[in-house]
Amino acid sequence: RPDPLNPDNAGLAGSANDSLQPYWMPFTANRLFKSKPRMFVAAEGMHYVTDDGRRILDAMAGLWCVNAGHNPPRIVRAIQEQAARLDFVSSFQMGHPLAFQLAERIAELAPAGLDRVFFTNSGSEAVDTALKIARAYHKVRGDANRIKLIGRAKAYHGMGFGGLSVAGIPRHRRDFGPLLGDVDHLPHTHDLTHNAFSRGQPAWGAHLADELEAIVQIHDASTIAAVIVEPVTGSGGVLPPPVGYLERLRELCTRYGILLIFDEVISGFGRLGAPFGSTALGVTPDLITCAKGMTNGAVPMGGVIASSAVYDAFMAAPEAAVELMHGYTYSGHPLACAAGLAAIDTYEQEGLFARGPQISATWEAAVHQLKGAPHVRDIRNIGVLAAIELTPREGAPGARAAEAVEHCFAAGVLVRVAGDNLVLSPPLTISPDQMTQVVETIDAALRTVA
Ligand code: PLP
Repeated sequence: RPDPLNPDNAGLAGSANDSLQPYWMPFTANRLFKSKPRMFVAAEGMHYVTDDGRRILDAMAGLWCVNAGHNPPRIVRAIQEQAARLDFVSSFQMGHPLAFQLAERIAELAPAGLDRVFFTNSGSEAVDTALKIARAYHKVRGDANRIKLIGRAKAYHGMGFGGLSVAGIPRHRRDFGPLLGDVDHLPHTHDLTHNAFSRGQPAWGAHLADELEAIVQIHDASTIAAVIVEPVTGSGGVLPPPVGYLERLRELCTRYGILLIFDEVISGFGRLGAPFGSTALGVTPDLITCAKGMTNGAVPMGGVIASSAVYDAFMAAPEAAVELMHGYTYSGHPLACAAGLAAIDTYEQEGLFARGPQISATWEAAVHQLKGAPHVRDIRNIGVLAAIELTPREGAPGARAAEAVEHCFAAGVLVRVAGDNLVLSPPLTISPDQMTQVVETIDAALRTVA
């Protein structure tokens, strides 16, 4: 019987391996993968180990989540100890101390005024929770007409029907309609004419936030519950916000009584050089969604951080009432809370929240060296994130980027494809030499693909 943990007996090299068939893999070309599997069996620090014993430099922090690098001993230990002490307790009308401790630690890290934490198990659940809180908030205040949700083109907000409805990557949406009604979208901020090769936040584009004014004119502010944006668009291709853009959105939302939600599933927990992107970018929303780096990716967990103003609106209900009819079996799961507390300890004690500002200039200089490499038509960076955008091949969008990623993997570096972009989001522990390795590997890949 193949043993996936044993590289010598993984039994995965063959092309018709029946043992691979039962698993219906997410976001994967199943038949292609199963004809040519790519298996990871271990990880440590900046590297993965594959079933054929290769060490792969992880330039994606797994999937934008392993911000402290793989398997930090403090997190491993915390999960092991918690599993032996208290495996599960419902969070419905029951509690355990770690959930309260973790909420307190997150509230301390979040921007001032955002100090109430609702736990979910993923970013998708965090987004759907935030959208539901937004609608219920207006309702509980007697403003039940405010139901419209405003997302943005190129946005990724997970795969729940709520998140998908406000998201803006067309191929994610097209097989699943009809999605939520009462949704509209802002334009994205990607513009090659004005912003190509800008470093950090582009100077051009703050005025795109004014499209919210047009949306308000169409629908009337009194019907709009919330605007949701990623402070930095992630899966849509790493699009840093233009200077002044988020400030303008904040101003308009405040003026029109609309809640502003920042989806910080990627930008939270150190990625932009502060515990939250809101802090790094100096704009405070009413609700933050987070996940991924919350536990350094070690146990599934997400959450919504709400302002006390939002929370307090719900607390006006009679004391014995359940104020928000919402939650998940695994909300505040003990293992996730243990991992979350240990992740924050790790980030703090290893100085990783402060590391973004220390390394982002080196990172920026490194990735922009790829300007002039074959096919490169834009490079974007902010914090410890970057995208290298390629000119698409005629009639085959994304194909060139996908091939480049394959070459990088063969050369021992894990990079991710997002449309025509190679996206990079390494653990914050990446060294300058490893940055050079990533850039040189991409450069070689781009010289190989047609
Ligand atoms: N929101 C953003 C901004 C994300 O990047 C993601 C995942 O990449 C999600 C939500 C969904 O998170 P999950 O995959 O944990 O449901």
